[in-house]
Amino acid sequence: MRVRAAVLPRTGAHVEVGDIDLAPPADGEVLVRLVASGVCHSDLNAVDGTAETRCPAVLGHEGAGVVEAAGPGTSVQQGTRVALSWMPSCGRCEECRRELPHLCSEAWTAMGHGGLLDGTPRMSRDGRPVYHYSFLSTFAEAAVVPERCVVPIPDTVPLEVAALVGCAVSTGVGAVWRTAGVRPGERVAVFGCGGVGLSAVLGARAVGASPIVAVDVSEEKLATALDLGASATVAWSGSAEETGAAVVEATDGGVDYAIEATGRPEAMMAAFLSTRMRGAAVLIGIPRADATLPLPALTIPRMERRILGSLYGSIRPDRDFPAILDLYASGRLPLEKLISHHLPLERAQEGLDLVRSGQAVRVVLELDGADPGSERGRPAAER
Ligand SMILES: [Zn+2]
Ligand SMILES: [Zn+2]
Repeated sequence: MRVRAAVLPRTGAHVEVGDIDLAPPADGEVLVRLVASGVCHSDLNAVDGTAETRCPAVLGHEGAGVVEAAGPGTSVQQGTRVALSWMPSCGRCEECRRELPHLCSEAWTAMGHGGLLDGTPRMSRDGRPVYHYSFLSTFAEAAVVPERCVVPIPDTVPLEVAALVGCAVSTGVGAVWRTAGVRPGERVAVFGCGGVGLSAVLGARAVGASPIVAVDVSEEKLATALDLGASATVAWSGSAEETGAAVVEATDGGVDYAIEATGRPEAMMAAFLSTRMRGAAVLIGIPRADATLPLPALTIPRMERRILGSLYGSIRPDRDFPAILDLYASGRLPLEKLISHHLPLERAQEGLDLVRSGQAVRVVLELDGADPGSERGRPAAER
């Protein structure tokens, strides 16, 4: 079938919206008619070459839609509303057997090849291959993905909200719930208030963390963080030491968990310095490949300070997507507030530019598929 998609022809180029050919789903794969896709900072890393990506490629790894066709050997029903996960864990490798499916070594290895799990792409243009991004490629009207990437979602949840759970929301909320295991009354700081950081604010609020301190350079983002449930804000001062000290002061002695969502070493340092005794810096943001983090070593044993890495929020999509969306449906996790912009697929490049400029919290691309299931609420932030 022929679908419209935003194709990145080569690293550093603009995406071009046009027709591509999509092959039918093979063994263990499904065709999903996409309704919404978020635009994530990782998509920008692929454009810029910060993360090496095989081109031409269709980017996008945060999407939701409706199953249109299921390949051989699958069990998902046509018409099922699904959110997409970019981690099709194999269930067999050492990491999967250690109950760390988000670190599945088989899926990680396959991800870089630009194909699906058998290594070959389902997309082409003029007879030449177009590569997948993180097994999904959601900047398109439809996608063929591994069945392991689709997670059925509750009927009442709008697909544009479900899309965000595929990356930003799970990464931020999961870092709080699953990596850190924040308990009610524990003190949390969040460094970097984009889509992932603000998701961490929402997750911290939902589990009763207090106080919740938001840290960012942008006054506007700090205001949004207060609106989403942060109890205090600290403006980034330009210095890790000063900013860390300001968080310690604002929390009467430091936080139990400092969630770092920017990937900048100076912000990681500030997060570490903002922790109290036995506190942990939870590092989500992806730094440059050559970045290092020199820490004041004495405080690690002296204060039992810790560093926790967090990938994909340490979540299990099949367990955590529905749990997150149930909390959304009950009003306790107002994920719709993360959406700052809606754009049609035709304006995908503008969406990437908005993310790059730091103006957007979350840009949602509205794709062509119709949503059969939900009362589609329009968030107040829509413009
Ligand atoms: Zn992402
Ligand atoms: Zn595995």
